Amino acid sequence: MKDTSSTLSRRTLLEGLAATPTLTAAAASVAAQTPAKTAAEQAQAALKDAKATKLVLLGTGAGPGGQGPERTRKMTSHVMLSNGAAYVLDCGLGVTDQYARTGIPFPALRSIFITHHHADHNIEYGPLLVIGWINGTHLDVRAFGPPPLKQMTEDFMRAYKTTVDFWVEDLKMKPLVAVDVQEVSAAGPVTQDDNVKVSAIIVEHPPVRPALGYRFDFKDRSIAVSGDTAPSEAVAKMAKGADVLVHEAMYVPAIETYIRGEIAKGRPIKFEDLMAHMKADHTPVEDVGRIAQEAGVKTLVLSHLIPAFDGIGDDTWRAPAEKYFKGEIIVGKDLMVV
Ligand SMILES: [Zn+2]
Ligand SMILES: [Zn+2]
Repeated sequence: MKDTSSTLSRRTLLEGLAATPTLTAAAASVAAQTPAKTAAEQAQAALKDAKATKLVLLGTGAGPGGQGPERTRKMTSHVMLSNGAAYVLDCGLGVTDQYARTGIPFPALRSIFITHHHADHNIEYGPLLVIGWINGTHLDVRAFGPPPLKQMTEDFMRAYKTTVDFWVEDLKMKPLVAVDVQEVSAAGPVTQDDNVKVSAIIVEHPPVRPALGYRFDFKDRSIAVSGDTAPSEAVAKMAKGADVLVHEAMYVPAIETYIRGEIAKGRPIKFEDLMAHMKADHTPVEDVGRIAQEAGVKTLVLSHLIPAFDGIGDDTWRAPAEKYFKGEIIVGKDLMVV
């Protein structure tokens, strides 16, 4: 789809996909408010005194669209906590608040990793740095991601220099002048510290190049993350033998139903074109099951759910993957601790 009108209609459609409310979602959000513990409290309890490495799903919804009261899943972000150090993976809108809600202190934030430069993965990267800094993130925080992450970081810091300088003057803080950025544009080792060894792969997410997946080998646990990708052999290879694979997942029947409904309403879109685009960029949940089985991981976490409706039940998400994958399957929810 090259012409502007179809691009526009595709965008509107994708926004609609993320926005459609369901009664189930409304009921679930009411129910979520009534029990004794909120998701944030549960996350804090699970992380408190945790000795082992933990993964917290901060945001599990796909796409930047559908920002309305119905959208209950935040955009993609995750944090891994190991030996008191926090590693953030992707910075969709909401990452800073969600991070704070886990109770992980900002001084614990050591590194930030970005998989690719779509807004649902990077839009709150700069704000996390600045709000983190005012809340105690150390000045030696590091960032990793595809080019032009260096330039983006410098430009953001330049844009917010006045803001940062006011706090420096007022609160006598050491200024946040620069962030140590390492760009990643090829598969291979990325970084290593006393807790974790990190490596990257290139995944298929046209036209975004490069789009990355990452593997985090902590001392006690290995966590592989697909990023956004069409079914990828590279993901299966990277995740070989990992404890946890976090994989994006697309539930095709829900998308097909939605597109047909929009066409019935008179939207100028072509069913085949749109589905071809979705399949070139994302992984149907059946294939996620196949990839997890091939990799032989212990636990598969479905996150970056497409569409991001809460109305699709956990069993509906799980069933297609279960046909192929025999390990544990977790359907991701915001603030879930794995
Ligand atoms: Zn995405
Ligand atoms: Zn993407």
